[in-house]
Amino acid sequence: MARIPEEEIEEIRRKADIADIIGRYIPVQKRGRAFRAVCPFHDDHDPSLNINTDMKIYKCFVCGAGGNVFTFVQNYEHIAFPEAVSRVAELIGYPLSVNASAAPRKADPEKERYYRVLEETISFTCYEINSEEASSAKKYLNDRGMDDPVRSKFSIGYNPGGDRLTAFLRAKGYSDADMVAVNVARTGLQGVTDVFSNRITFPIHDAHGHPVGFSARTLDPNNSSKYVNTTDTVLFHKGEIVYNAHRARMAARREGKIYVCEGVTDVIAFSRAGIENAVCTLGTACTKSQIRLLKSLSPRIVFCYDGDNAGQNATMKAGRLARSEGCDVSVVDNRTGLDPDELLRKEGAEGLKKAVSTELMWIEFVLRYLKERTNLDNYQERKKFTNQVKEEIDALDDEMDRRYFTEELSKISGFQLTYEPRQAVRPVSRPAAAAKTEDGLVSAEEQILATMLAHKEAAQHFSDELGFLQDTVRDAVAILILDAYRTEDVLDPAALIDRTSNQEERNLITRLTGHWAAAAQYDENAMNGAIRKVNISRKRAQADKYREQLSQGVNKESTAVLLEEYRECLNDLRRYIDEEN
Ligand SMILES: [Zn+2]
Repeated sequence: MARIPEEEIEEIRRKADIADIIGRYIPVQKRGRAFRAVCPFHDDHDPSLNINTDMKIYKCFVCGAGGNVFTFVQNYEHIAFPEAVSRVAELIGYPLSVNASAAPRKADPEKERYYRVLEETISFTCYEINSEEASSAKKYLNDRGMDDPVRSKFSIGYNPGGDRLTAFLRAKGYSDADMVAVNVARTGLQGVTDVFSNRITFPIHDAHGHPVGFSARTLDPNNSSKYVNTTDTVLFHKGEIVYNAHRARMAARREGKIYVCEGVTDVIAFSRAGIENAVCTLGTACTKSQIRLLKSLSPRIVFCYDGDNAGQNATMKAGRLARSEGCDVSVVDNRTGLDPDELLRKEGAEGLKKAVSTELMWIEFVLRYLKERTNLDNYQERKKFTNQVKEEIDALDDEMDRRYFTEELSKISGFQLTYEPRQAVRPVSRPAAAAKTEDGLVSAEEQILATMLAHKEAAQHFSDELGFLQDTVRDAVAILILDAYRTEDVLDPAALIDRTSNQEERNLITRLTGHWAAAAQYDENAMNGAIRKVNISRKRAQADKYREQLSQGVNKESTAVLLEEYRECLNDLRRYIDEEN
């Protein structure tokens, strides 16, 4: 991918309304001149994320997450900086001069070629669906509501018979080896032939929107494999693919949840009912890497597997895995016995929406699932059931939920379970004196940085008088500021944020902007005071170290040298303290 020119990045940052962009991802409320949102970077309940549209930055009061418009998109979507820039450009309708698509492809010529083979296959099959030969396939799709617009949205096509795809790709200049590598063709006794002959094709993409394979359905009632999927290839790893992830991402963010269904047609049914935040895992087996991908779409996962025994077992398994990965899990309480596609056909969009609107909390699902599979008259079974459910109850975050479900479980199991409120975790207390010195140092160093940020002279003064800060993050930010002043006379904090990819440094810059925003005049006395505080703290730490070394009793000469240095250090310290008073 070509590099996005600095001037364009600058212009996008200037043009983008940060409250508007954040508002595309999460609900944003206007409070007077400021904007607030529930922070997506910690478990927030009150809106703690403050958005400052003048300074073009955001900051969370609770967890300290902060940055500019690109930082937000980057951290929210878990994408790299250039991707975030192009995403924001896309959202504000800014035409980038370079092709920085939302999914920058690594310059891997082999993979590039494989993607092209699959893209060509998709256009070929989408063309073929309108051919005479595909008329029954088309009728089948139309009857199931997958009409022209739906087909074009999901690129549903038809792979004709007679190895015509293979012939087409050859004519386009692709080698048999490439076609076999991505599994649209296979080598057999008859040479290289089409894999999906006479099947309706549903293309599958990875999370970045690259084509990686197909799920293909036959219309032949005698064919025992109704659906076949691409086998594992260099691009297609079944256990890592979440179908429709690239399309569902934005809606999942907006709605705050992601629906996980069993099959491709369920996802399409959701979309036809206007629910775009749905994906499927190509079967009910759900792996850890799929859960992680789901979590990156939304930490709240709603399972919508079929109501049959297999579907419920799969929900139990996948749900446990998702819980162990820290997801908030719930389960659609679908008691109709119909899958989403059937529901849509029988009851329409409203019927499907209504059916998925009732969700069970994870603990409710577990309780019901295990109860149905336990003979409560048998003591051993009842005990096992109780322990299993208790474990899930103990993992609940909400105090009231834990109390309620402990009581429920007591009623069902007959065991007298007592509810114990969780002990509040006490912060480990530091010795008061040390804490105080440290807090003093933090505020002095932050004051220095904030002043530097606002005034070029302050930065010059810092580099003459002090040169570095004690804390590594703060020191790194000091270097960033000095570096920025080499080319600028006035700093824009929102632009400074992009000079580092370290999130701690970004948070700090944001915090500085909030605390001492543009103190009107440069006050050199105040700056000197802060520098002195840092020096005092540094000398105190040094003196402590000398004392410790001296107490360990080394040989005579070393002791003499150490004593001399210790004395000098104490003199410096006294001088700084005198200056302060
Ligand atoms: Zn936060």
